[in-house]
Amino acid sequence: MDHVAQAADPHAEIRAEVTKLCARFPGEYWRQVDRDRQYPTSFVQALTEAGYLGALIPEEFGGAGLPLSAAAAILEEIHRSGGNAGACHAQMYIMGTILRHGSAEQKKRYLPKIASGELRLQAFGVTEPTSGTDTTALRTVARREGDNYIVNGQKIWTSRAEHSDLMLLLARTTPRDQVAKKTDGLSTFIVDMKAALGNGLTIRPIRTMMNHNTTEVFFDNMVVPAANLVGQEGRGFRYILDGMNAERLLIASESIGDAKWFIKKAVDYSKERVLFGRPIGQNQGVQFPIARAYAEMRAAEALLLLGLSKFENGESCGEEANMGKMLAADAAWAAGEACIQTHGGFGFAEEYDIERKYREARLYQVAPISTNLVLSYVGEHVLGMPRSY
Ligand SMILES: Cc1cc2nc3c(=O)[nH]c(=O)nc-3n(C[C@H](O)[C@H](O)[C@H](O)COP(=O)(O)OP(=O)(O)OC[C@H]3O[C@@H](n4cnc5c(N)ncnc54)[C@H](O)[C@@H]3O)c2cc1C
Repeated sequence: MDHVAQAADPHAEIRAEVTKLCARFPGEYWRQVDRDRQYPTSFVQALTEAGYLGALIPEEFGGAGLPLSAAAAILEEIHRSGGNAGACHAQMYIMGTILRHGSAEQKKRYLPKIASGELRLQAFGVTEPTSGTDTTALRTVARREGDNYIVNGQKIWTSRAEHSDLMLLLARTTPRDQVAKKTDGLSTFIVDMKAALGNGLTIRPIRTMMNHNTTEVFFDNMVVPAANLVGQEGRGFRYILDGMNAERLLIASESIGDAKWFIKKAVDYSKERVLFGRPIGQNQGVQFPIARAYAEMRAAEALLLLGLSKFENGESCGEEANMGKMLAADAAWAAGEACIQTHGGFGFAEEYDIERKYREARLYQVAPISTNLVLSYVGEHVLGMPRSY
């Protein structure tokens, strides 16, 4: 079942190291932070100190300069070990917008500190309560006044905002009715959250079905220096889109890790639990859903690996990133279903960790992009059917 041929896996060493680190944070740790909806501070600290969260930052800025597939391996192993990278995964990839589109001054100022963990850039302010998936309809406005922008509006589902020093914010700088294309007129800003908190920025936590430290944030005449505009004014939507394939490939790798965790747990238990004089795993009714979930996971994983390799070769990988993310999330869910069913009543007991992982795995059919929107992408951009929205 340990299907990745270790000799052929360029990240076998990283995987082994991450697994060792995760062993210091067993089920009891995750159960406790989940129960109290706490931030997993010591886990995030350990990952930071080991340099994993700076994996994608080039060495010249103090990071490890690793390829995307290495970051995917790190996140997959965290989830395969029973943990949850949702508390910090964005520290790995949000910085990509600064790396690709930021000024030399912004890169010098922020990237080394993000690489060391001195600064956390893991809040991503895109989604709003009214516009949702219809991103270009967002209502948060940044108005230029001298050397500053004045920001007013609201975001929702801004995860990790209370545990972040910086936020990457998408706001409208030119009204939608004054731009040629609705994707124009949106701009991206680096917000110093510590300075803004209480000075125009308010954060309100949202308690959700899993421990995700998500929030809603409100901007009331929040001042952002013009020097914190990333790239050109009005081109922010493209900058955000540029980072989406990487994000989807990384989130898909977490779902693959979840699926592997569920499958291993289900297989082990199905061999141990003896009823009617034989292990329950001997019954096809128990065996087949696990085998099916495994097959689905392997298919999703193959697509994910293809997407990662295309990404690293600079080829377009929107098809693989979107479909890989959808299929990986589906495979994790199928594996979660098989796992909980295999465990019967024990699947519902907190101490088995299954119900926690089950709640956590469900998110990825909605965020960072919902299944319907992936299917719309495939229909329109891959198959050439008419745009549905
Ligand atoms: C725990 C959590 C953490 C998150 N973290 C962040 C974050 O850090 N930063 C951030 O910016 N966002 C974040 N999000 C937001 C997430 O990306 C959105 O929830 C997701 O993109 C769906 O948008 P929505 O919730 O507004 O749903 P809506 O856009 O309101 O959609 C509702 C439903 O309608 C469907 N739908 C909408 N339009 C169409 C259409 N045209 N065709 C078919 N179906 C359609 C959708 O698929 C969905 O199922 C997070 C969300 C959650 C729940």
